[in-house]
Amino acid sequence: MCGIVGYAGPQQALPLLMDGLKRLEYRGYDSAGVAIQHDGVLEIRRAEGKLANLAAVVAKSPAAGATGIGHTRWATHGRPNEQNAHPHVDCGGVTAVIHNGIIENFEALKKPLVDKGHRFMSETDTEVVVHLIEDELKSGKSLEDAALAVVPTLEGAAALAFVSAKDPGKIVAARISNAGGVIVGHGEGENYLASDIPALLEHTRTVSYVEPGEFAVITAGGVRFLDRAGTQLEKAKTTITWDTVSAAKSGYKHFMLKEIHEQPRVISDTLLGRVDRASGRVVFDADLKLTDDAVRALDRITLLGCGTAGYAALVGKYLIERLARIPCDVEIPSEYRYRDPVVTKGQLVISLTQSGETVDTLAAMEEGKKRGARLLTFVNVMGSQASRMADDVIYLHAGPEISVASTKAYSTMLVDLYLFAIFLGQRRGTLDPTAGGKLLAEVFHLPTLVDAVLREEPKIKALAYRHHQAKDFLYLGRGVNYPTALEGAHKLKELSYSHAEGTAAGEMKHGINALIDESLPVVAIVLQDSTYKKMLSNIQEVRARAGAVIAVANDDDEEIAQNASEVIRVPKTNELLSPALAVVPLHLFAYHVADRRGNDVDQPRNLAKAVTVE
Ligand code: GLU
Repeated sequence: MCGIVGYAGPQQALPLLMDGLKRLEYRGYDSAGVAIQHDGVLEIRRAEGKLANLAAVVAKSPAAGATGIGHTRWATHGRPNEQNAHPHVDCGGVTAVIHNGIIENFEALKKPLVDKGHRFMSETDTEVVVHLIEDELKSGKSLEDAALAVVPTLEGAAALAFVSAKDPGKIVAARISNAGGVIVGHGEGENYLASDIPALLEHTRTVSYVEPGEFAVITAGGVRFLDRAGTQLEKAKTTITWDTVSAAKSGYKHFMLKEIHEQPRVISDTLLGRVDRASGRVVFDADLKLTDDAVRALDRITLLGCGTAGYAALVGKYLIERLARIPCDVEIPSEYRYRDPVVTKGQLVISLTQSGETVDTLAAMEEGKKRGARLLTFVNVMGSQASRMADDVIYLHAGPEISVASTKAYSTMLVDLYLFAIFLGQRRGTLDPTAGGKLLAEVFHLPTLVDAVLREEPKIKALAYRHHQAKDFLYLGRGVNYPTALEGAHKLKELSYSHAEGTAAGEMKHGINALIDESLPVVAIVLQDSTYKKMLSNIQEVRARAGAVIAVANDDDEEIAQNASEVIRVPKTNELLSPALAVVPLHLFAYHVADRRGNDVDQPRNLAKAVTVE
């Protein structure tokens, strides 16, 4: 969720950086800072809290110089205070780094540096990078050569930018994966850097996109792009012709596609600070007031969600029952509120809602509350009605979701449900500590795995183009991926306007088999989990009836090719976490089918975001 800006040119950098940061502030940040380089000196200004605090700092103590970088932080490692605010500097205070994302292996990298005598000033994962660069610069390397040596050793999802008084007039930027954009803005005798287009529009409309694995070397006189090996790349320049609203699409054709691609980043954002490192326990912030005693006293949970949020709720039922052994029901809010539900004393009602304004969900929450239930909401929009009504709140931190069809809010709901189920299991003693630790580690690996699935997009697009004319689709899943099948079908319906049905694969023989013929594409989630063999038998049933099977399978599954006509690959993870990966190709598939048909993907007919009517 952080914002990055940079400037190299003849003008004073400070006001330009501050202006760029201001344009990214709508995201809501917790601290900000700038690094400005001038005459062999590096000046750092940082402040906790909103950008206005940094503005006050630089008003009192301006920094001169024509090359600089700026950052607004969304803390992942270390509290949101001034000390942890970016930019971070090396021991000599000559080189600075700003960073968007997480360096997963920072601890392993930090230890040898500390042993060598490097002094760390912050709690962030980021700071390790600038000390590594410091060591590289000692041998007289250029800033870009130092970055080329260091960046490949970093694991995780990150966008980085550096300035150094040792290599004046230059910004080096690097992008490791899909977390955070790195966009270069080309000017006349001056050049810009930003994580998002709105920060550039004031100055230039000619931009180049830095892709994962690429580097940009930005000076006033020009920009060079390099690959991992340091080989110079020819990069296209794109002219931005959009209005401000579409500029926020950051180069994507639709908000939906942008939001799908933001998932590695928002999943990292929602994981921020939610595990106590010392105890290995899941912790939520002060908006979750459930005490350990209250958790132990829970005897039933009702999960409420409309549409896609309802499928997330169903995944939640599988997770909570498995990890915390609390019986759960999933309810359709518009049914729940009218059907005289039974609420017991030890019951928790959980609502899931992106906007926090969905009227059906709010009314069902009210019904639960009236009958004495404690209310917890998983919600994206801060200050929304659901967040004000509930006793406890877990924020999704997915950032603004503009596309009507939900994607990143869904995946953050899943990730927060993983955390919450582990939280319950840890406090109720139903989750073995070793197994819990292992599961948590896998949760934290999800951004990287989702990123890997996103790279399959060209294949998924080709698949969508092959099937875009089909009138009906069937989606099959079992176990924790039964809700994934429902969500896949749901997304296809709302975007493509084709009929699609999702079902638990074990149910086929009880009726659905009658639909199968050669014109019906069947999308089956067949992961190597506890239902794998059963799913293989189910897709055999489909094939025996001439249906075409599109399988979502694990990347090392060799058997699947004999059982399916087309295969989409996803990496292996813990079975309980697999819905967060399996849903990604289904969202992309629905997107590309609809786009191929020429539909208005972001605003499907007859639908709206934040459904505030009953
Ligand atoms: N992981 C870094 C930190 O906690 C960067 C967070 C961000 O993307 O703002 O400081």
